[in-house]
Amino acid sequence: MTDFLRPILCNKCGKELKAQGEVVMEDFLYVNKKWGYFSGKDGRTQEFILCESCVKQLEKQFAIPSKWKDTTELL
Ligand SMILES: [Zn+2]
Repeated sequence: MTDFLRPILCNKCGKELKAQGEVVMEDFLYVNKKWGYFSGKDGRTQEFILCESCVKQLEKQFAIPSKWKDTTELL
């Protein structure tokens, strides 16, 4: 997993994710997207973090709901 600078902040609401030492106690969405040639973004890489509640807010705007799979291996 990528090393994140602390504090880890949600890009949408600015909330700091709870951490104890090295362990982040709240899960979050991490997006690392290298935009390609056809995107008009010059091949730049975009990075942002969303906390769980911001992901929930974002999903409410989805026309088509997220796909969900059961995760058998939890870390
Ligand atoms: Zn947030």
